[in-house]
Amino acid sequence: MIKRAFFGILKPKLHYKQIDEAPAQPTSVRASQKITLYIDDPDQNTEASVLKVGDPVKSGQKIALTAKADSSYLLASRSGRISNIALFVGIFGKKFTAVTIDMDADAAQIMDDVFKSASQTPSLENARAMLAGLPGKPDFNVFLSGGHPVKTIAVLGADSDLLSITRQYFVKNNIISIKTGIDLLRKITGIHNVILIVPHHLAQVAGSSGATVKTVDSEYPSAHPHLIRQHILSSEAPISGAGVAFFSAEAVSAIGAAFNTGKPPLEKLLSFISKDGTRRLVSVPIGTSAQDILNEFNEKIKDGDQLIVGGPLTGISVYASDYPVLPDTDTLMVLSKKKIVEREESACVNCGECVRVCPSGIQVNLLVRCLEARKFQEASDRYDLFSCIECGFCSYVCESRIPVFQHINLAKYTLEHMKEAEKNNV
Ligand code: SF4
Ligand code: SF4
Repeated sequence: MIKRAFFGILKPKLHYKQIDEAPAQPTSVRASQKITLYIDDPDQNTEASVLKVGDPVKSGQKIALTAKADSSYLLASRSGRISNIALFVGIFGKKFTAVTIDMDADAAQIMDDVFKSASQTPSLENARAMLAGLPGKPDFNVFLSGGHPVKTIAVLGADSDLLSITRQYFVKNNIISIKTGIDLLRKITGIHNVILIVPHHLAQVAGSSGATVKTVDSEYPSAHPHLIRQHILSSEAPISGAGVAFFSAEAVSAIGAAFNTGKPPLEKLLSFISKDGTRRLVSVPIGTSAQDILNEFNEKIKDGDQLIVGGPLTGISVYASDYPVLPDTDTLMVLSKKKIVEREESACVNCGECVRVCPSGIQVNLLVRCLEARKFQEASDRYDLFSCIECGFCSYVCESRIPVFQHINLAKYTLEHMKEAEKNNV
């Protein structure tokens, strides 16, 4: 998959997977018995929670942690009853409340119709209050943040995960619903400059969206939002990041469908890659466990295999196969033990591969020495730690198998955590 330069002075290249001319229809996978919603919960203040075990839940109902208007929430993709509420700390300390719902039988699904009446008067307030849990996880708060008013909406129709074709599928097959979503976003935000970003091979179909079409090339990591902002949107907004709201093509399509029908879509599309490398598109209710998808395709996780949420360069290995599909899960992979590169660190040989591939121009070979010595502040002050866009390419090419990307993530998390603690005087 990786093409290395013959003379060793050119940078190695990786290319994104392109969707086929006639992609297979997604396989619909049903959740068995339970769904689990991981709701962002940085404070984990259980006393403020309004959720109770035993509460009935309708399909499409907003499941909010507190009664406050700005409380985090997701949408229940199936009706049933809450059977468990637990605090959950994910990778690098990200905090959630995990709400498990024992589902009613499919035939007995009870639908929530609160959004139906709200959908008659599309507005940013309604979208913010009811649609942040849609597939693709649209972030409407970006329009409210002070400082840099949003002037441009960028719709991502190119996948950022190397092996994913989830967003491309939406552009290829759902361009009309993307157009509806774009029209609605223009209406509720008053922002008319909408840019649809796609790989070259989808430029023609993207033309029917009513947005300005811009293309990214096929070389990893050109479809990373930071690089899109830097290289494609630099004339629309300052490189500092101000003024652009990013939405995935799936989220925009879901916004259009929600306001048009009065029913928020609750199924997530994702690319599932089996151990033998077969890739399938799968459609599942949000909150379905990865195990239900594994069962559907008779995929067994054996000792030493890994279940990865995300792409091969930046994905996170999860240890429990009941990990649920979240609104922004675009890729799920199973890696067999045989294909896992053991990260037995040896010393950096200064080959320079990491420096050649780094899209942020970081002296990664110097940065890594600092990180290994746990001099995180120096890494930030002298070696540009926070310019890293987290593409994972440096780890992938490292001759010495140093987990550079993981070192970087740990350093960023530690520094941010320390800053937060100082701010709170802890
Ligand atoms: S993960 Fe960061 S340091 Fe590594 S190549 Fe990507 S941008 Fe550069
Ligand atoms: S960190 Fe790895 S890729 Fe970078 S110079 Fe050292 S051995 Fe080479």
